[in-house]
Amino acid sequence: MSSMQELFEDCVKDIYSAEKQLAKALPKLAKTAKNPRLKEAFTTHLEETNIQIKRIEECAKALGIKPTGMVCKGMQGLIEEANEHIGEEKPGPVTDAMLIGLAQKNEHYEIASYGTMLEYAKCLGIYDQVQPLKENMSEEEKTDKLLTELAETEINPAAAQAPAEEPKKAPAKKPAAKSASASKSTASKSGGAVKSKVSVR
Ligand code: FE
Ligand code: FE
Repeated sequence: MSSMQELFEDCVKDIYSAEKQLAKALPKLAKTAKNPRLKEAFTTHLEETNIQIKRIEECAKALGIKPTGMVCKGMQGLIEEANEHIGEEKPGPVTDAMLIGLAQKNEHYEIASYGTMLEYAKCLGIYDQVQPLKENMSEEEKTDKLLTELAETEINPAAAQAPAEEPKKAPAKKPAAKSASASKSTASKSGGAVKSKVSVR
């Protein structure tokens, strides 16, 4: 690579590959999500991603290059990592919280890529030719904000409330039902034991 123009063209190819990989990965995120708003967010972003791919093709055409021929290893790694997590998990708020985290890594990666490209384009005097990339970036930012909003208002609080899945082993003793207080487990167990002793006499 010898010129900034070539550097820019490589970025076009790289983000094209990234978007194409994401278009393949998003249906799995949508399928795994349980929260209906999260599911919808992924489905909507899949539709947007398909349009983004077309926009990159437009830009490539305007620049007289082909957008193909490169594999975005960054996005490949993020998707590989996501795939390792998805599938093992049971659908529910904790998995939804995890999906948001995985998806936001993708969005941030894209935002960084488009941000860099638009700055290059300004310096190269090709900003007008690559205007569609700005629309792509806006959609990534909008998606990122929506995911943050979903996490903060619904999904993370629900995940925090979700009971941990523990392997079912014989529980020691059931604490006395009357000792209802905020603190659980060991404190109420010993409290219950003491109380029952007292009440016998
Ligand atoms: Fe995208
Ligand atoms: Fe995106």
